[in-house]
Amino acid sequence: MSEPTRRHDEVLADIARFAGSSLELPEVLERIVERAAALTGADRASIWLLDRGEHRLLPSALFGMDSAFTDEWKRHPLPLAEERLSQQVIASGLTTVVEDATADPRTDKASVEFFSDQSILVVPLARRGRVIGTLFVNHVRQRYHFTEADIETASTVAAQAAVAIENAQLYGEARRLADQLHRSFRHAGEALATGADVSANLEHMLQLAVETTGADGGALELLEEDHRTTYAIAQAGHAPDEGVARSQFPLQGGDGLLGTLELWRAAGPFEDDERALLAAFAGHARSAIEHARLYASLQEERKRALQAERSQAEFSSMISHELRTPLALIKGYSATLLRPPAPLAPERTRRFIEGIDSAATRLQRLIDNLLSASRLESDMFTISPQPLEVRQLMQRAVSAAAVLDHERDIRVNLPEGELWVLGDADQLAQVVENLVSNALKYAPGNDPVYVTAASEGRRVRLSVTDTGQGIPSDALERIFEKFFRVGEGAGHEETAGRLGTAQPRGLGLGLYICRRIVQAHGGRIWAENGSAGGSVFHVELAARAGT
Ligand code: ADP
Repeated sequence: MSEPTRRHDEVLADIARFAGSSLELPEVLERIVERAAALTGADRASIWLLDRGEHRLLPSALFGMDSAFTDEWKRHPLPLAEERLSQQVIASGLTTVVEDATADPRTDKASVEFFSDQSILVVPLARRGRVIGTLFVNHVRQRYHFTEADIETASTVAAQAAVAIENAQLYGEARRLADQLHRSFRHAGEALATGADVSANLEHMLQLAVETTGADGGALELLEEDHRTTYAIAQAGHAPDEGVARSQFPLQGGDGLLGTLELWRAAGPFEDDERALLAAFAGHARSAIEHARLYASLQEERKRALQAERSQAEFSSMISHELRTPLALIKGYSATLLRPPAPLAPERTRRFIEGIDSAATRLQRLIDNLLSASRLESDMFTISPQPLEVRQLMQRAVSAAAVLDHERDIRVNLPEGELWVLGDADQLAQVVENLVSNALKYAPGNDPVYVTAASEGRRVRLSVTDTGQGIPSDALERIFEKFFRVGEGAGHEETAGRLGTAQPRGLGLGLYICRRIVQAHGGRIWAENGSAGGSVFHVELAARAGT
C-alpha cells in the first residue's frame, strides 16, 4: 500500500471513528470538513444542513477561514431558493463538480468573488435516501480538476458526516426527550405531591412522546379493577386511521399489568431506537401512575387517621361536657335544698329531687354506656343468657328511660300472652333503654313514643318509633358506627345544614353498643324512616318457648 493511500485510509477510518462517537455534533463536523479538505487538497470545505422545513441551509462547519469569521458565518443561514447549486445537488442527490466557479451560472457570484473561488465540488449528505445537507469542497485562486479519487473520497466523507449527523440528532433528541421527560416527571412529582391531576401530567408527557417520535397520536389506557375493560387516561395527537402501524408498550406494574401505551404513525413503523425510547416512556408513565395511586391511598389513610384523631378529640370534649352537665345539675339542686334556713315549699323540693334523680340517671346511663363500650371491646365481654320475658324486660327499660322525661307519653304495646327470648337481661334492657332515650332526645315535643313487641314466627321483634326528624338515608347504617353522629365530622356538612345546628348532644356510642349487644345475642338491629316521618328502630331476637 502506498503512503498516500495508507494515509487516506487512516483519515477515513479516523472520520468513521469520531462520526460514530458521542462527541458534540459541531465538533464532529469541524473535524470532518478539515479532513475533507486535507484529503482532496482543497483550500476550504464546508457543511450545510437543511433546516426542518427544508427551506434554509444552515452553515454548520467550515474549514479554511479563521475562527472569528467562522463564528459569524454560522449565524447566517441561506434561503435554499437562492442557492441554485445547492438546490440542484439536493434535488438530484448527485455529486456535482463546478470547474469554473466564476463562469458557472449556478454559483453565487458575490460569494465566489468574496472567497476567490475557482473550482467547487458539492456532495449531497444523504441518509436513508433523504438528502439532509451538502458538503462543499472549494479550491481558491487556482482552478482545479477534481479526480475520480477526489470525488470518491469526498463522497465517503459525506456519508460519514451524514451518519454523524444522524447519530447526533438521535443522541440529541434522546437527550432532549430525556430532559423533557425528566422535567415533566419532576413537575408530575411536584403536582402529585400537591394532589394535582395526574391525568393532565400524563397527557403532557404523552404529547412529548408523540412529538419526539413524530407519531400521529397516542393513548395511555389503564385497566379497570375488573382487569378486563380499559379506560383512556391520556390521549394526544389524532385518532389512528384505518390500517395505520401501531405500537403497543405494556405498563407493567409491581402487581401486574396496569395498562398499555399505544402510539401510531402513518409514515411507517417505529424504528428500534424509537421503540426503546417509547418503552422507557411507558416505564416512566407506569411509575407516575403507581406513585399517584400510592399517593391517593396514603392521602385516604391520612384522612382516616385525621378523622379518627378528630373524633377522639371531639369525643373527649363531649364526654367531659356530658359528665359535667348532670353533675352541675345535681350539685345545683342539692346545694339549694341544703341551704339554710328557710325550708322550700314541698312542691319545689319534689321538683328538685326529681331533677337530681333524672340527672343521676343520665349520668348513670352515660357511665353504663362508657363501661359497656370498653367492655365490648375487651375480651371480657360475655353474655350470660337466661330465659327472659319480654314484657318485664320492656317495662324495666321504659321506666328507666322515662326518668329522662316524666311528662312524655311512652306507649307500650305488647301482644297478649308471654313472649320469651334467651339473653342477658341487663344488656338487653340497656338496648331498649338506649333506643327509647334516643327517641325522647331526637324527637322532642309532645308526640308520643311507641314501644312495641311482636312475635314474628320464630323471632321476636321489638320496635321503638318516634315522630322526630328521622335519619338521612345515607346515615341509616352509619349511625351504628362508633362515634358516628348525624351532621358531624367530614362529609356531613350537607346533612348538618339540613338539620340545622341545634342537634342534641351525645357521644355516638349508644347505637354502637346496641348493635354489638344484639349481634352477640345472634340478633339483628336496624333503623328505618317511618312513613309519616320520624324513625323506627327494630331489634329482632330468636324467640324461645316459655318456661
Ligand atoms: P348519641 O345519641 O350519643 O349521639 P347514638 O349512637 O345513640 O349516639 O346515636 C347516633 C346518632 O344517630 C345520633 O347522633 C343521631 O344523629 C342518630 N339518631 C339516633 N337515634 C335517633 C332517632 N330516634 N331519631 C333521629 N336520629 C337518631
